Amino acid sequence: MLFTTSLQKIKGVGPKTVEMFSAANLHTTEDLITFLPRTHEDFTDIVSIADITPGKKTIKARCEKIATRPVRRGLRITTATLADETGKLQAVWFNQPYRATQLAGDEEFYFSGEFEYNYNKYQLSNPSAEKVSDMPVQTDRLLPVYRQVKGLKTQLVRKIIAELKPLITMMPETLPDWIIKQQKLMSRADAYTNIHFPKTIDDVQRARERLGFEELFHLLLASQLNKQENAKLEGWHIPFEQSIVAGFVQKLPFELTGAQRRAAWQLIQDFERKVPMNRMLQGDVGSGKTVVAGLAARQACYHGFQTALMAPTEILASQHAETLSKLLQPFGVSVGLLTGSVKGQARGVLYDQIAKGSVDVVVGTHALIQEKVQFHKLGFVVIDEQHRFGVQQRQELLKKSEHMPHLLAMTATPIPRSLALTVYGELDVSVLNELPKGRKPIATKLWSPNSRAQLYEKVDEQIKQGRQAYVICSLIDDNPDNDIKSVESEYNKLRNSVFKHRKIGLLHGKMKSEEKDAVMTLFSSGELDILVSTTVVEVGVDVPNSTIMIIENADRFGLSQLHQLRGRVGRSVHQSYCYLVMSDSSKPSERLKEIEKSNDGFYLAEVDLRLRGPGEIYGRSQHGALNLEVASLADTQLIARAQQSARKFAEDPENLIQYKQLAMQVQKYQRLTTLN
Ligand code: ADP
Ligand code: MG
Repeated sequence: MLFTTSLQKIKGVGPKTVEMFSAANLHTTEDLITFLPRTHEDFTDIVSIADITPGKKTIKARCEKIATRPVRRGLRITTATLADETGKLQAVWFNQPYRATQLAGDEEFYFSGEFEYNYNKYQLSNPSAEKVSDMPVQTDRLLPVYRQVKGLKTQLVRKIIAELKPLITMMPETLPDWIIKQQKLMSRADAYTNIHFPKTIDDVQRARERLGFEELFHLLLASQLNKQENAKLEGWHIPFEQSIVAGFVQKLPFELTGAQRRAAWQLIQDFERKVPMNRMLQGDVGSGKTVVAGLAARQACYHGFQTALMAPTEILASQHAETLSKLLQPFGVSVGLLTGSVKGQARGVLYDQIAKGSVDVVVGTHALIQEKVQFHKLGFVVIDEQHRFGVQQRQELLKKSEHMPHLLAMTATPIPRSLALTVYGELDVSVLNELPKGRKPIATKLWSPNSRAQLYEKVDEQIKQGRQAYVICSLIDDNPDNDIKSVESEYNKLRNSVFKHRKIGLLHGKMKSEEKDAVMTLFSSGELDILVSTTVVEVGVDVPNSTIMIIENADRFGLSQLHQLRGRVGRSVHQSYCYLVMSDSSKPSERLKEIEKSNDGFYLAEVDLRLRGPGEIYGRSQHGALNLEVASLADTQLIARAQQSARKFAEDPENLIQYKQLAMQVQKYQRLTTLN
């Protein structure tokens, strides 16, 4: 048997089974070998019913009695009496009525679950059940649990994979020997053997370490190679013009922070190099990223280059267009806005101006990457809140120039170092680690829903002093329509009662963009006192006069998201406040208490990464595309080790020639993560 052999050659696999595997995209023996268990059930530690103590436990027993009853809508409880020679106990399952059929008869099962005190008695909760007669001998009762292959019983999948054991032991090594030695890893054959047929939990862990290492190694190597390739590209040369930059800085209504100066200087130096800029500008909310990009755009424009700035929402795009207009118009730089709501003739005219080069800076949403948009001479691309964009979209934008334009990605979501390495490893990074002068930390407080009246007084107090307020509500459930309803009812409630005497606006994602713009304009110009909104204001919205924010159902948000939301206030010299109202009056979680204590986005992102995983920070879509099967992006240690090996490997170009298969794997990731 070979690794390319089709599954029907395996003993006990008929055409029906082949079909089922095929539907799950499993065709060859290799496909099946690399089909990894989701987890392992530990049946090594079996206790008798008489000896059972609370905790995760496995017993070997028969089911004597089983019945299902509805408790309320959406909840059915199945209760069974399980018995072995030493005694009996009760097991319960929630919404698993099929257990009655599964456990009928006189068969013996291994039941694994949490033995705990619930509803006034000890019982085994939601145990898994495996027929004793189905237990393969090879596993020593540590059973691999595979992702469901539709139409096939788990036991059958296990049996078929067991047939491949001899083949698995012959799997060729894919990592260089020196890496295996240096990192003290299992061989590839051992890793697959151990993950399918482990004897101990330690076997599983070491196998996962090896396979996870390899995944991360590929990803990080891809990023190293992208960086090398980027260094060979030819970009636009945009010389530094001291008087131009000085003129821009003089006209600013404020003094740049030291961090802004340093970042701006880095951009200007990048412009001067042959190699195109490939830089990320990271700065906590309110650190003033836009003006840094504006300064660079001014420099680019002076030399006849266009700048494109892409923002994730229309609100943000129009706000950026306005800010940049104010900054740049005094120098005769023209700024255009291209979003979905620019329609008909106006759109045609704008396309034309962009193509002719009579618009110098084009700000927009992903409308910018449409085919019809042709630039005259695109020299500089800025992407705001870039983790919200797919890699694909970035590439589209970069294609619109004959030379590779300089690229600046700006993000306020602080990305923990480990994550940044895997995903943005090829980018240079500038950090704005300093807030503009005079900013006071936002005072944040968790708040019980029972004492809203006091909160509204605080809001009114701020408005009396001429300030503005946000009330954020959302995420009542997963249905956006319901979220809209909740924001609308909150809006109506406030408008018709406590804040009758104030001017209130409503903002949510389902409004037409003209409506959104109109509301935002009213709010920015101070004509509204309160903005009741969903999380559409989360990124970037900048109304410095607002100083107080109420976030309803705060416990439903991630810390990074709360931090982003909170960053809409605290944008001026006035003391600002953020009140996080809990869904109920129970004790707030440790996680939420963190945001009360800390104003540091980096720290909060680390906490989120630890507690909620990378999707929360990085944005689900791109993380999904990376599709790591074994490794976790939260495993900073393994990432650091893989990074070390990837750097070493990339140093010698001969390596890629020698390890052909590895090179192929890496190319796949390179395409996925490159900016070029
Ligand atoms: P972010 O980094 O969150 O995108 P913005 O670029 O929106 O921040 O800037 C936040 C606010 O701070 C804006 O109103 C901007 O005009 C102002 N700002 C930027 N730099 C400074 C500075 N050096 N001093 C004072 N205010 C500044
Ligand atoms: Mg911003």
